[in-house]
This record gives sequence, C-alpha cells and structure tokens, in this order.
Amino acid sequence: MQLTNRSKVVVRKEMSLAERLYLPAILGGLFITFKHFFRKKTTISYPEVQRQFTPVYRGHHVLKRDEQGRENCTACGLCAVACPAEAITMTAAERKPGEEKMYREEKYASVYEINMLRCIFCGLCEEACPKEAIFLTDKIVHSGYERQGFIFGKDKLVEPVEADKRVDISGRLKAHRKN
Ligand code: SF4
Ligand code: SF4
Repeated sequence: MQLTNRSKVVVRKEMSLAERLYLPAILGGLFITFKHFFRKKTTISYPEVQRQFTPVYRGHHVLKRDEQGRENCTACGLCAVACPAEAITMTAAERKPGEEKMYREEKYASVYEINMLRCIFCGLCEEACPKEAIFLTDKIVHSGYERQGFIFGKDKLVEPVEADKRVDISGRLKAHRKN
C-alpha cells in the first residue's frame, strides 16, 4: 500500500556530450571559486585574529575581591539556588580572628565549585548574588578531554589578589546596578 506520494522514479537518462566532457562543469566550478576571491571574507584567521565579542557575552565566571583584596562571597548559597543547571556547590565556613584581610564577611566559601559541563552561561548566578561577588566575564572556557577538569574550584574562579591582575567587570557591574 502506498502511504505517501513523495516517492520519485529516478530516470537514468543518457548524458549529453557536454556532460560527458566534464569541462563545462569544471569551468563552472572554477568560476564560482574565482568569484569568491573578490568577495568580503566571512571567515577570520583564528587564533591570530580574534572576533570582537558582544558586550553582553557571558563566559568564564570570576569570584571578585573588594578593593582591599578580600573575597566578596559570603557563601549565602543564593547563586546555587538560582542556578537552573544545579552547577554550583559550596561549603560555608566561619571567618576566624586574623582572617579579616582575606574575607570581607564573617562567613565565606571555603569550597566553591562550578561544574562547567552543566553550566549554560545564563548569568542567573550573577543576578542572584547580593554581594556583587560572582560575575561572568568575556573569557572563554576552553575545551578539554577530561570531565574532571571542568569542575572549576576557587583556584580557577577567585581573581588574583594583585591589583594589576584583577578582572575588569566594570561594564557588567554598570549593567547589574542599573537593573
Ligand atoms: S551561568 Fe547559569 S547555569 Fe552557569 S552557574 Fe551561573 S546560574 Fe548556573
Ligand atoms: S557568589 Fe554571591 S550568591 Fe553565591 S554564595 Fe557567594 S555571595 Fe552568595
């Protein structure tokens, strides 16, 4: 029984002289190649040339420090609750006397991890954070072969303490404060 009328009978017709010579087809192909020499290139020579990212690009997360170099995060867990991919986990700890220069708040994250294989870079963690501690940057998360390498801990997330190595998130911060 015929279910649809989409079937097509293929007719094996004789090739014409031009088709048998192949030359017109080859010339046609060369003409198309030649035409593209004069067109604007749609590709770039990556990695020598890099595309400009949109200002709203969301990439590698950063856990920010304040002006005095103290970690902003207070391990409140709001980012983890807001995360639709359940990519964030953390362990809270209490700041001990003498650690005031390391952590801004009395409670801090002794462990903070993001599973980059789960993350969909939606930015909801950034929006949920009441301490302006987590931001998504324009840095690319590189590919890899080991799943374990995609659990990013504080070593990969907290920005360096040195002032000249800080991650500039001023653009995102401006947009963040506007909302
Ligand atoms: S960007 Fe989205 S998916 Fe990724 S950790 Fe933040 S809330 Fe979760
Ligand atoms: S990053 Fe922000 S929302 Fe997440 S635990 Fe730290 S302070 Fe709370």
